[in-house]
Amino acid sequence: MPDLTTDVRYVKGIGEQRAKGLEKLGIRTLRDLISYFPRAYDDRRAYKKIKDLVDRENACVEALAAAAPTLNRIRKGLELVKLRAVDETGALDVTFFNQTYRKDNLHAGETYVFFGRAEASGRKRAMANPIVEREGERLQTGRIMPIYPLTAGISQLTLVKAMQQGLAACQQLLPDPLPDQVRRERQLCHIGYAYEQIHFPAGEEELAVARRRLVFEELFLLAIGLKRLRGRRDELACQPWRDTDLGDFYAALPFSLTGAQRRAIDGIRADLASGRPMNRLVQGDVGSGKTMVAAAALLCAVRNGRQAALMAPTEILAEQHYQGLAPLLEKLGVRTVFLTGAMRVRERRAVLAALESGEAQVAIGTHALITADVAYRSLGLVVTDEQHRFGVAQRSALAAKGDRPHLLVMSATPIPRTLALMIYGDLDVSVIDELPPGRQKIDTFSVPGSYRQRIYKFLDKEIAAGRQAYVICSMVEENDQIPDDRKAAAEYAKMLQEQVFPHLAVACVHGRMKPREKDKVMSAFAAGEIHILVSTTVVEVGVDVPNATVMVVEDADRFGLSQLHQLRGRVGRGRHKSYCILISDNRNEETRARLKVMTQTGDGFKVAEEDLRLRGPGDFFGQRQHGLPSLKVADLTCDIALLHEAQQAAADLLARDPELSGCPETARRLEEMFESSADAMN
Ligand code: ADP
Ligand code: MG
Repeated sequence: MPDLTTDVRYVKGIGEQRAKGLEKLGIRTLRDLISYFPRAYDDRRAYKKIKDLVDRENACVEALAAAAPTLNRIRKGLELVKLRAVDETGALDVTFFNQTYRKDNLHAGETYVFFGRAEASGRKRAMANPIVEREGERLQTGRIMPIYPLTAGISQLTLVKAMQQGLAACQQLLPDPLPDQVRRERQLCHIGYAYEQIHFPAGEEELAVARRRLVFEELFLLAIGLKRLRGRRDELACQPWRDTDLGDFYAALPFSLTGAQRRAIDGIRADLASGRPMNRLVQGDVGSGKTMVAAAALLCAVRNGRQAALMAPTEILAEQHYQGLAPLLEKLGVRTVFLTGAMRVRERRAVLAALESGEAQVAIGTHALITADVAYRSLGLVVTDEQHRFGVAQRSALAAKGDRPHLLVMSATPIPRTLALMIYGDLDVSVIDELPPGRQKIDTFSVPGSYRQRIYKFLDKEIAAGRQAYVICSMVEENDQIPDDRKAAAEYAKMLQEQVFPHLAVACVHGRMKPREKDKVMSAFAAGEIHILVSTTVVEVGVDVPNATVMVVEDADRFGLSQLHQLRGRVGRGRHKSYCILISDNRNEETRARLKVMTQTGDGFKVAEEDLRLRGPGDFFGQRQHGLPSLKVADLTCDIALLHEAQQAAADLLARDPELSGCPETARRLEEMFESSADAMN
């Protein structure tokens, strides 16, 4: 009898070759298989008579093959199989492109179900490349089909067939991580039912019931895990730090800090003096001045005789921090060093020696700061900037270099409070909700693609005036494969360079470039050698190019609002008037409403709240910027009310049974979920 740990090769149709493909998707056992959830669904329930087919709408048609299919070779590489199918209302012309085998497996006089996008004009009805099944088969037609993320060599059909067998074999064996009491109190369905319906929903309501339960389960486990981490941290103790006078620091700044900056600094000082390791997140919109808050914290460490490290996710960001902070810190008598992977051996050796002896008090750099050969004399504080680019593992590696150092995390992603509580459940949060005075508004426009020529003209004008521009294009998704951003950016850049701006320097960056290459292009852009930088979202990172004044986003509807806000934050960083142009041909009302939010407010928190209201928190979880265990279903959808319910249920359970001795499956799943992040949060 198969069980949850049975190898997937048990499934009929899965041999060595496909097992290898599945392994790439993280599927080894039957449990892995049935826990691989669809990313979307295709509703193929609608049956239509041929004459009722609507142009450009998907539908199933049951029709009889009126004659044998014919094969036409149009040219090398293009073969058409054509078939005429009829029902009592009319005839349907079916064409298959390069599916020559169809000629022999469709037979005159048999009835088939065709599913596809209809073409209807006048009395003519047609479908190209429909899905075909024998009548009554109903594997791929006449139902709501799951759509799985795929990899090479694994097709939707392979997964669908495997899934059916996997579910049949062990759906009833699934142990439930939700304690029975919780499940009943919250009116959630059984786990077996949830698994069946998430893959093969009988209808929308059934799917909603299944999803609600799985989302709840995930949020519930996450909430318990975070509460326990926090509980453990609260028990840790360390020597309280002396509170230090920062008067000379404030006096050395060329501006006075905003109220929000001061509040964040006070929060940090209180943490440092509390006798417990700090674990604080400072959240502030782009340009809100987080760096100075970090600087104050660095100074507190030094004045307590400890070393401090400031870690940035890229060379160029680290460099910018160093250039910006070192003069200020040196002026206050702090010896500051810079460390990245790109340094020469001799330089590097000198820096390492200074850190080990304690002569260097502050280190600014990239993850070179945490490689094995770096030793600190007394590391007391670690600050990470733009933390969502850092894995939890990296944070914990740095933490391990000191004796329970204080941790400070800076994030430019505004997250609504409700969510921050969940996502950063184990962190204390400071919010910088005030921008330094005198910031200019970035004029934001939402326009259709027909404006492109005018936009290009505008770019030309700005660049002639000495400015620079970003053009963001979204990734190309190909046949359900992992999206390829390299192609999107490179091709678009090539087109712009050759056809639109032959007289300018256009370059591109994308996610598949080596960090070194990426930094090189970014540096050239920062130095003004490149006029237009085409990119996918890699420029989201907080690079500062004050001379860039235009941000153009293609297919803006494909981005989350918070992401768009991040992108917009790349401009408006200097003294020049800046613009953000969002291009989208999507006429969907909700999409229009979302983009309109962008044109109406420049406040990142408002944008985030609106995004949350319009789309639910799935997006926030989906962006994986929290460094916590990844969520599978909550990415799809979930509502705030459910989030609160899950937190409440978690708190109740821990109050009742803090050791989880009454629900071993809950404990087991938690261990699985948190295994990599357990020690990261102290
Ligand atoms: P971010 O929060 O995006 O990291 P930065 O720390 O890079 O923002 O600050 C953005 C810019 O604002 C910097 O040039 C910084 O010197 C400046 N700045 C920071 N705080 C203030 C302030 N209180 N008044 C005026 N300018 C400030
Ligand atoms: Mg910053």
